[in-house]
Amino acid sequence: MMTNKPKILFLFSDTGGGHRSAAEAIIEAIELEFPGQFKTEMVDFFRKYAPLPLNFAPDIYPHLSRYPNMWRIGYEVSDGSRRIRAFYNAMWPYLRRAVHQLLKENPVDLIVSVHQLVNIPLLRARLQSSVRFVTVVTDLVSTHSAWYHPGADLVIVPTMPAKEKALKSGLPIEKLLVIGQPVAERYISQAKNRLELRNELNWNTLLLTILLVGGGEGMGNLERNAIALNDAKLPIQLIIIAGRNQQLKSKLENQTWNMPTKIYGFVNKMPEFMKAADILITKAGPGTISEAFIAGLPLILYSKMPGQEDGNVGYVVNQGAGIWAPNPNLVVECITNWISNPEELAKVSNRSKQLEKPNASRDIAKALEKQVMLSINNKNQKRV
Ligand code: UDP
Repeated sequence: MMTNKPKILFLFSDTGGGHRSAAEAIIEAIELEFPGQFKTEMVDFFRKYAPLPLNFAPDIYPHLSRYPNMWRIGYEVSDGSRRIRAFYNAMWPYLRRAVHQLLKENPVDLIVSVHQLVNIPLLRARLQSSVRFVTVVTDLVSTHSAWYHPGADLVIVPTMPAKEKALKSGLPIEKLLVIGQPVAERYISQAKNRLELRNELNWNTLLLTILLVGGGEGMGNLERNAIALNDAKLPIQLIIIAGRNQQLKSKLENQTWNMPTKIYGFVNKMPEFMKAADILITKAGPGTISEAFIAGLPLILYSKMPGQEDGNVGYVVNQGAGIWAPNPNLVVECITNWISNPEELAKVSNRSKQLEKPNASRDIAKALEKQVMLSINNKNQKRV
């Protein structure tokens, strides 16, 4: 007999790789915790529903790191509960049709937003609905007010600083849960050891292995850092992930390397790559940082999206899990120090591991299951 499984809609967008990774990790955890019990669907709100030019947001995002000051001004000016709602009020005539269409085309039992720009218009359109709405905040520390709309039924945040910001933005404490950043199961349950993985990946098994990544889009000054390390001729192996940045990938492929170096585009094996590496050099993306904690990787953060990722840098540095090195010389200096002081490197690795929250995805899945049941009860009561 066919039964109608409750359906959960995940709203995300490919502005970077973090929102997608978070949604996928939660969906995977739902299936692990409640096998076969729920239907899930992911919708890229910007690409599928937003009107011009907002539907180009995922294409524009990778280029924004070239204009950090503009990004910072936009972020700071809009970061206030009243200001962000005033902005959306002005945008409402423009967004209304898209948002209503999305709700009409996706009848579900629970809506989960993992993108800060979706919450306010969706909650406005959903006013009369019995379907519950949950926000899972996928920024770590310095979270934008747009994440926190008091109309949401539940908001799940990854850290205490995010909780404080939520309260400051007017969210009632009973609507808040602090759990963690959702990370895929493969990071947690990776059974193979470093040596096995390096053999499998065809990497050098002896050299100190440095993984370089700039989020899903290969953002920030990945190239300058790679070249500086190459020029320093250190006894290391370089693993460079250009993500979806094809131009960067071709440039790096045409470079002559002084050390064993592998260059990849977007990889689906990030859990294996992280476990096989010794050090991670990365943009301060929340997803990548949370994954690195699970692998116990010492972090060198070379760039950040101003405002949005500022807090991530403080979080990593203050806890001793890595360093902030916005200049390639600092990156080289740090690696050189760690090569000559392996005890210090091991300490930083331990501190990184202490920050892991391996149960986050499954705990979020359990919280969502409860919300689905509340939605269904609401619907049944309405029918009576
Ligand atoms: N990622 C991946 N393969 C790649 C590059 C990145 O799977 O080749 C994933 C990475 O593991 C993380 C996400 O993309 O889960 C990037 O998210 P983050 O929040 O770090 O930065 P964003 O790209 O959103 O700015």
